[in-house]
Amino acid sequence: MSKSDLNAYEIAVQQFDRAAEYLDLKAGIREMLRKPKRELAVNFPVKMDDGSVEVFTGYRVHHSTVLGPTKGGIRFHPDVTLDEVRALAMWMTWKCSVVGLPYGGAKGGVICNPKEMSLTELENLTRRYASEISVLMSPEGDIPAPDVNTNPQVMAWIMDTYSMHRGYSTPAVVTGKPVEIGGSEGRKAATAQGTIYHIRRAAKHLDLNLGQASAVVQGYGNAGYYSAKFLYEDGASVIGVSDSQGGIYNPKGLDPEAVLAHKRETSSVVGYPDADTITNAELLEIACDILVPAALEKQITGENAPRVQTKIVAEAANGPTEPEADKVFNERGVFVIPDILCNAGGVTVSYFEWVQDLQQFFWNEREVNKQLEAIMNNAFDAVLQAHLEKQVDMRLAAYIRAIDRVNKATMIRGIYP
Ligand code: NAD
Repeated sequence: MSKSDLNAYEIAVQQFDRAAEYLDLKAGIREMLRKPKRELAVNFPVKMDDGSVEVFTGYRVHHSTVLGPTKGGIRFHPDVTLDEVRALAMWMTWKCSVVGLPYGGAKGGVICNPKEMSLTELENLTRRYASEISVLMSPEGDIPAPDVNTNPQVMAWIMDTYSMHRGYSTPAVVTGKPVEIGGSEGRKAATAQGTIYHIRRAAKHLDLNLGQASAVVQGYGNAGYYSAKFLYEDGASVIGVSDSQGGIYNPKGLDPEAVLAHKRETSSVVGYPDADTITNAELLEIACDILVPAALEKQITGENAPRVQTKIVAEAANGPTEPEADKVFNERGVFVIPDILCNAGGVTVSYFEWVQDLQQFFWNEREVNKQLEAIMNNAFDAVLQAHLEKQVDMRLAAYIRAIDRVNKATMIRGIYP
């Protein structure tokens, strides 16, 4: 079976197995970490606008609770499957572990198409799903966050539903909330902020002057736009960007703010006056120093990787590089900052939000970014050290560090009873 025939959970288990080879895990611990700790499936009714009742299916999966309460987003999408949620939960365990957060991994999903639902139907669905998973969800036990097609408003409904049942406000039950009800400053730009801290570290390691570097960014949403903006502010020349409609290229550099203004006006970066229009496939092959995939998974494959001409791939997106492409990059010496490390700024500021909610003491954006930078730099340096010492690629090094931390905690805690 080729890698692309595998479902997300099978890929996640294979990635785990590959890294586990480098660690001295007890057989039973290895078997335990290959599987989610617990899985909840819920079928629940929702009142629709036309007076009918529709039954939806949702999931909440906890992969590991060894390092602390579970953390992970909730996805609303027609293609949600239990195996996808299992994989995403496992990846959250490694993401939280590699940067040293006191969390295990979780993920949730509801099979639905929010684009075909009214706001009232979406609120009804969210509140009922929140109440169905409240047997698992709590500030001490499991703290959801936004993912595909869920946003701060959806998080606000979840927080409100949970709080109504408790009889008092419980902001720490969910993160990614609006700032007005206990969200954190800096959360919006957090993923790209983390990415730029990693890019600075990687550039230093490779002796690359960011002030003279060129960068290309795929995707111009939350992760992509802020990545372009921060690269530009560091003096890099952002020569190409794209969104789902296509890409734009100017070898002399683009102004990320002006490109965003154009996208706001026309709903795409394409057509920006001061650039050539290119395809997304061409964008990935522009010669540059730093390539930031910040759109979808599986963008760089065994087929196009030989034509990707960059020194650093900074994976702001989850899973943009296929394993076959990884092999090509390793052979060619392209430095990959793997997704579980590169985009962990988002979950890290979610962690800060939870800490602030529990303490009812809120930080300003400067404090948030100071703490974020310290956590990102420590994690980067530890992964780089493993990469150099064990002579493995950065992705494998990140997995080894993440799994090792969970394994050590498991052994110290012991197997109950
Ligand atoms: P978003 O919806 O804000 O933006 C996605 C962007 O990708 C949009 O500009 C869209 O037009 C573009 N896009 C869609 N299809 C494309 C295609 N075929 N080619 C090029 N561009 C395309 O989403 P986001 O929050 O920025 O997330 C992007 C990636 O970053 C995802 O993989 C996500 O899992 C990952 N990520 C995001 C966060 C976060 O905090 N936002 C955290 C961790 C990881």
